[in-house]
Amino acid sequence: AARREDRTTMAPSTGKPAVTTDSVINLDHGDPTMYEAFWRETGDAAELVIPGWQTMSYFSDVTNVCWFLEPELDQQVRRLHRTVGNAAVDGYHVIVGTGSTQLFMAALYALSPDAGEPISVVSTAPYYSSYPAVTDFLRSGLFRWAGDASSFEGDNYIELVCSPNNPDGAIREAVLASKPGGKTVHDFAYYWPQYTPITKKADHDIMLFTVSKSTGHAGTRIGWALVKDRAIAKKMTKFVELNTIGVSKDSQLRAAKVLGAVSDGYDAKVGAPRLFDFGRRKMVERWSTLRAAAAASGVFSLPEETSGFCNFTKETAATNPAFAWLRCDREDVDDCASFLRSHKILTRSGAQFGADPRYVRVSMLDRDDAFDIFVRRLSSLK
Ligand code: PMP
Repeated sequence: AARREDRTTMAPSTGKPAVTTDSVINLDHGDPTMYEAFWRETGDAAELVIPGWQTMSYFSDVTNVCWFLEPELDQQVRRLHRTVGNAAVDGYHVIVGTGSTQLFMAALYALSPDAGEPISVVSTAPYYSSYPAVTDFLRSGLFRWAGDASSFEGDNYIELVCSPNNPDGAIREAVLASKPGGKTVHDFAYYWPQYTPITKKADHDIMLFTVSKSTGHAGTRIGWALVKDRAIAKKMTKFVELNTIGVSKDSQLRAAKVLGAVSDGYDAKVGAPRLFDFGRRKMVERWSTLRAAAAASGVFSLPEETSGFCNFTKETAATNPAFAWLRCDREDVDDCASFLRSHKILTRSGAQFGADPRYVRVSMLDRDDAFDIFVRRLSSLK
């Protein structure tokens, strides 16, 4: 009991200072702290105690292609996808990574040709700003960033398809006609019911997911790939082995516990708190507040709302993207990020996504206090 008390009385480490009405509001990163409020209310549903002797070995299951994947995480990943219906899991290998960022690199490695010129990596603009940054930072001889997929000409490429898309929330499909030398990687970080209706069970060759945006546990650094082809799964595993000799088991067990708690919420027998209901309610509320603020200011516009029938909730639902792709319509402002910065709102410039600097990307996943100050400030800008 004493030890338990120590744990619960420890000051929570939230990573960011509290905000006040005249603070700088930093909505540049997609830090998903909005979800803390949900997990605070779940009691011990997602709590985990790891004794000193556990999780010491490098190995998890030497009979699995991904030998460092904890079987419990494998099971909970499959269970959650079956619950939500957003991706096929039968016949797929699950590969775990230190965030889906590591698996993105592993996929590039696995899809690159063994010899010859570096393969071109492309994505339709506006594309997630990490794609060019991560692709080129080690100046690999295997692959190189080649920009906007919609203007790409060539036969050999890796197309990154992010849907719903970071930064603009668009629902996307591959734009390059499949050619023998063309490969695709589907980044489904945001293909969850709080952000978009689940309209189909995705079944692409390589699909990336992460707890960062599904449950909000970005700091746990766990992502997973669903991979159809065994040889590709083996190469991706090799990448993680050479890069970090596996993935923290402590984090994997925590992620398994968290994903299990999410599925429990939709398991009639268990009836635990429901993450996607919380997430959707929050996102609907925030998008409606933001649209009202943009309209009140008269100088900002946002992408049109789209909707569809969600096979998970069995209701028609709108998309509520994790980021707002905000355009400043003032004639005298050609750099929206600087304009907002001068009003102490930090966002990421459209230029970083291969787009017009009149646009910025704004995180919709911060805590209530920061989000509220942001919309109030935005509505007063003229
Ligand atoms: N893909 C997309 C589209 C993202 O927005 C993010 C997070 N910003 C990631 C991947 C990386 O997530 P992780 O924290 O799992 O590395």
